[in-house]
Amino acid sequence: MKLRSVWVFHLNTGACNGCDIEILDVLTPYYDVERLGVKLVSTPRHAHALLVTGPLTRQSYYSAKRAYEAMPPKPRIVIAIGTCACSGGIFYNSYAVRRESERLGLEYPRAGGTSEFLPVDVYIPGCPPRPEEILYGLALLLGVAERKLSPRHYTEEEFTLPRTQFKAWVEVILKARIRKELGYFDGYRLLERFMRLVDVAETPEALKRLVEEEKLKEKDSRLKYGLDKLYDYYLEVVRVYEDILSQKRRVLRVQK
Ligand code: SF4
Repeated sequence: MKLRSVWVFHLNTGACNGCDIEILDVLTPYYDVERLGVKLVSTPRHAHALLVTGPLTRQSYYSAKRAYEAMPPKPRIVIAIGTCACSGGIFYNSYAVRRESERLGLEYPRAGGTSEFLPVDVYIPGCPPRPEEILYGLALLLGVAERKLSPRHYTEEEFTLPRTQFKAWVEVILKARIRKELGYFDGYRLLERFMRLVDVAETPEALKRLVEEEKLKEKDSRLKYGLDKLYDYYLEVVRVYEDILSQKRRVLRVQK
């Protein structure tokens, strides 16, 4: 089965309308996306593809879920338009966006993009993407549709995540937490001091001793409190990270 045209349903999951205006633009006679066989429909029940704009907010999650489930089961293509839909964009880590990875806990950065919830086939980044970029993505879609309808065979392989960027990863989480405790200015400066201790300490016990010594030198009780907090957070974050690294991941590869 080969699709000669693709019917798309446009879904706004919390966009600022910038991306939506660009989608309207590709429908105008100037760009005329219909000449590629792409047609906008008013219900997901008739759609081959979902054009999603915006981060996935908590409120829009349920309507997005309903729209996706209402689509015919094949080919069910999802296109994320704009940086917000691709990765959360400026709404990354916002409390207002929906996040699926409950395992990591509420404090962990939220992606907020459509891919948190829907299996995205085509990403069209940009804030907002230009009409030409949307046209290119949609043209690509015709190829994706064909591949989705033809049978593919997969092999499953196991792998573990590489141990790179460990320190940077820990620092990002600690930054987010200490910012809430002491604010940007004091929080970030204290984190720098704390990370210098982490660099020289070889074990958690040694780190604890260094933190205690640092506290004796410090006169400000807020910063003493911050050092204690950073130590607790550090242990927790390292434990979670080690846990993630020790897990085996599975990856599907298409058999040639
Ligand atoms: S990507 Fe930019 S233009 Fe599009 S919804 Fe997000 S903020 Fe608005």
